[in-house]
Amino acid sequence: MDFKDSPEQAEFRAEVQAWLKANAKPKTKDTVRGSQENRYKEAKAWYKKVFDAGYACIAWPKEYGGAGLSQIHKVIWSQEVEKYDEPDGYFVIGQGNCGPAMMHFATEQQKTELLPRMASAEDVWCQLFSEPSAGSDVAGLRTKAQLQGDKWIINGQKIWTSGAQHSDYGVILCRTDPDVSKYRGMTMFFIDMKQPGVDVQPITQMDGGSHFNEVFFNNAEIPDSQRLGDVGGGWGAALLVLMNERLAISGIQPDGFPELLKLVQSLDIDGEPARNNPLVRERLAHWYCQHAGLKASTNRMLTAVAKGGIPGAEAALGKLVGAVMNQDIANYVLQLLGDTGAISDESLAEQHAHFQNTVMFAPGIRLAGGTDEVMRNIIAEQVLGLPQEPRADKGIAFKDIPSGNQG
Ligand SMILES: Cc1cc2nc3c(=O)[nH]c(=O)nc-3n(C[C@H](O)[C@H](O)[C@H](O)COP(=O)(O)OP(=O)(O)OC[C@H]3O[C@@H](n4cnc5c(N)ncnc54)[C@H](O)[C@@H]3O)c2cc1C
Repeated sequence: MDFKDSPEQAEFRAEVQAWLKANAKPKTKDTVRGSQENRYKEAKAWYKKVFDAGYACIAWPKEYGGAGLSQIHKVIWSQEVEKYDEPDGYFVIGQGNCGPAMMHFATEQQKTELLPRMASAEDVWCQLFSEPSAGSDVAGLRTKAQLQGDKWIINGQKIWTSGAQHSDYGVILCRTDPDVSKYRGMTMFFIDMKQPGVDVQPITQMDGGSHFNEVFFNNAEIPDSQRLGDVGGGWGAALLVLMNERLAISGIQPDGFPELLKLVQSLDIDGEPARNNPLVRERLAHWYCQHAGLKASTNRMLTAVAKGGIPGAEAALGKLVGAVMNQDIANYVLQLLGDTGAISDESLAEQHAHFQNTVMFAPGIRLAGGTDEVMRNIIAEQVLGLPQEPRADKGIAFKDIPSGNQG
């Protein structure tokens, strides 16, 4: 398989490179990220700039705010923008997950009104799937939507909702029929996050930030016109969102190798360049092989998608290997740095405390978008053809599934 640019792709790459050179911030030694609020503001400003230049949501149709190009063009953009210090993946949940759901299920009027605002980050979107007792098994969710006239009344709780505190809208999966099996009784909607009855409570993480939130719904209302898909068709709609999530994160999920390589080129150990140390070289070789393998399997998946295929189980492989590698590299670097590894001040620490921050956030990346074990199940069942896990709740009405939480 050849992953070289076609002449048309090479031309697009050159155009992107020229635009980024003129408009994006280079990576420098002095960049300090600042507070979460600053990063959010910077991200909004960056997305607007990208939108105005016509590079937002590259694979979306032009009439919805995109560039009308292919997934490969999107990858070329990601490969080039990652060389700069810009927050390009910041609103990936909205654009990568919620956008395709809206594109598939919303009315034409909703699409032309809302999608360009999502593409320019004028509106921020979040994904409201996980609940306290429904994460890996999201089909076990209990947030209720009950029809009253032409609107749905929402009651329940979501958790781990990334970016909900900044969001204008969310795509939400609710239980609409407890009398049928769990997969058949769910419906998907989009919801106005600023309305009465929606209470967002940020969760403070060990690094001091609040990436995600608890979201409580107390008689919040959703007009039936904001239903995405059929009543009871929520599982199929959710699978579409999750499939697009795999695609959206596959190009941007960090594995830590480029940062490690950069570090060892400037670091000394006991007065000798780290890059000459045989133990460091052995680790570098090991992670280089994984990094190259990940790149190749991501490219293979994206090539298949560009030809009309769907993201397959390669995405699970990439997620599993990349997330573990990212965490292992950060832990290793903190050991290499010795005492200075304990400095987490971004203005003083190596690479602006990239590795220190990664040590604290990497465990979350191993859970988000499917845990290691869930990825292994996907690989076992879909790649290796092993028997399916026993599913004790198959064919039973949701309300009859034994549970300690009957709320
Ligand atoms: C940083 C971050 C951002 C997130 N953002 C969002 C978001 O924006 N929107 C959203 O809806 N959710 C979000 N999530 C939630 C995420 O999808 C869930 O954390 C994830 O699906 C796991 O669910 P859980 O946390 O409930 O763990 P559980 O599902 O309760 O899992 C607990 C443990 O059991 C294991 N386990 C579970 N089932 C199996 C099985 N069948 N076989 C083997 N082992 C199993 C898991 O691997 C894990 O180790 C986010 C999570 C994180 C960490």
